[in-house]
Amino acid sequence: MTTTNTIISSNFIQNIINEDLKTNKHNSKVHTRFPPEPNGYLHIGHAKSICLNFGLAKEYKGMCNLRFDDTNPSREETEYVQSIQDDVKWLGFDWDDRMFYASNYFEQIYQYAVQLITVGKAYVCDLTAEQMREYRGTLTEPGKESPYRNRSMAENLELFAGMKAGEFADGSRVLRAKIDMASPNVNLRDPILYRIMRADHHRTGNTWCIYPMYDFAHPISDALEGITHSICTLEFEDHRPLYDWLIESLSMENRPQQIEFARLNVTNMVMSKRKLRQLVEEGLVDGWDDPRMPTISGLRRRGYTPESIRDFCERIGVAKSNSTVDVAMLEHCIREDLNTKALRAMAVLRPLKVVIENYPEGQVEELEIENNPEQPETGMRKIPFSRELYIEQEDFMETPSKKFFRLAPGAEVRLKGAYFIKCEQVIKDEQTGEIIELRCTYDPETKSGSGNVTRKVKGTLHWVSASHAVKAEVRLYDYLLSEQEPNGEQGERDFKDDINPNSMEKLTACMVEPSLLQAVPETRYQFIRNGYFCLDVKDGVSGNLVFNRIVGLRDSFAKVQKA
Ligand code: ATP
Ligand code: MG
Repeated sequence: MTTTNTIISSNFIQNIINEDLKTNKHNSKVHTRFPPEPNGYLHIGHAKSICLNFGLAKEYKGMCNLRFDDTNPSREETEYVQSIQDDVKWLGFDWDDRMFYASNYFEQIYQYAVQLITVGKAYVCDLTAEQMREYRGTLTEPGKESPYRNRSMAENLELFAGMKAGEFADGSRVLRAKIDMASPNVNLRDPILYRIMRADHHRTGNTWCIYPMYDFAHPISDALEGITHSICTLEFEDHRPLYDWLIESLSMENRPQQIEFARLNVTNMVMSKRKLRQLVEEGLVDGWDDPRMPTISGLRRRGYTPESIRDFCERIGVAKSNSTVDVAMLEHCIREDLNTKALRAMAVLRPLKVVIENYPEGQVEELEIENNPEQPETGMRKIPFSRELYIEQEDFMETPSKKFFRLAPGAEVRLKGAYFIKCEQVIKDEQTGEIIELRCTYDPETKSGSGNVTRKVKGTLHWVSASHAVKAEVRLYDYLLSEQEPNGEQGERDFKDDINPNSMEKLTACMVEPSLLQAVPETRYQFIRNGYFCLDVKDGVSGNLVFNRIVGLRDSFAKVQKA
């Protein structure tokens, strides 16, 4: 795998569709579907598929269905069904009245299996799983035909009906397609279509004790819904001949075209519901919507906007070979979106007290500060200024290094939207030697916007008024996985070995400007010099301010691009 930052805007699937429209294939219609298996919450890879399928439908004035691929009874849950709908809607897409379940087609799929038997293209096989593996052959050797392959149609019909009626034990028999045991494509070596499995299904309960395989149910579901372009990921490329064989053998009216594209991989993220579920079930994260998760619900709780995710999916394009996209690209997209949208606010994450000795005790000034310089129409807000303030601890150095232009003994800086201050004295804890307070003076002539300022200072610091500030918790995030490419192939080490023990830092004594008491979830802020933040929907309930850092301000992707 290679890491790539290349932006590909052309989409080969559009070329296919354009050609189909020209030749009037599929009656010049475009009908796609997004077919998640409800066995977990959706992740950013699914977002790519959603944007592609719903996006193409929109672009070509076609339709896109939401279909739950719920043919495997043991792993599906209604919680996932709900979360998937929420995520698709939140991303900004709509399936209108076309929400389907593959399980709704169980009866039809069964009838198609019967039909396949009657045309001599399916048979009931009694080989054990182990024998079946032996008979299957290998990539280099052809397989062997099952001794049950030439059962009569009547016997097959009777046995298959018996399978459905619960006359046989789980796993004792299967229905197989009769194709070609010598095919170089192992998917065509008489693949299994139905198995016996006594399991409760989330929608059909115990109505069925036989369940269709994905490879059988999927093309039939697509054809039944009139899907024209069945878009899936590359690992299904070798299944396409089987897909086409089934549609052809069943003489189905609609002939969907399967088209494969490369799955999205992102650095420092795992992209598999199975692995993500492991993180949740083992309590390694705070649920599926933990702000460090690559799930859509996690990104949403973190503060990502649907616009930024759609933009990301658009920019990465649609590829035909697997690669990994740098997570910095996703961060770049959210920064770009928030730079124009986010209201500015002042928040001090690690407070250091500053007392302005020549500022009158008890005096409070309301200073005007802009809400968002990128959007002047958002106006100004008032910020209280007083004798006692907080600044960031890291904005002061007792013995400043050469390029440190912030506050130091005897040095002068500008306070954002306020005055110049100069540090006169450093107060330390007698026992620990820790710096606990700075004594400063201010120059009343230097008020921001007064036009009086003649001398220059290099540093501008954010600050809050001590008696007006509100206490808040801020959560800073790093990557959940420290490894760049944790989607290791089989046999490699466990992805959990790469879990970053420092992926979250909770700062519980932050001081933020009083206007943030009005913060509501989904409103994003730029805390000046600290990054983009939003209220945590779960823990940031009224009066208890908890902010997630969505992303920092430094853009490593823009740098990479420039270089
Ligand atoms: P996972 O291994 O994460 O469960 P999946 O492919 O089994 O992934 P499905 O629920 O079957 O998950 O996927 C629904 C749709 O989303 C499919 O069409 C699938 O191809 C697509 N999809 C899943 N993961 C990605 C990805 N990383 N990039 C692009 N599309 C994806
Ligand atoms: Mg799957």
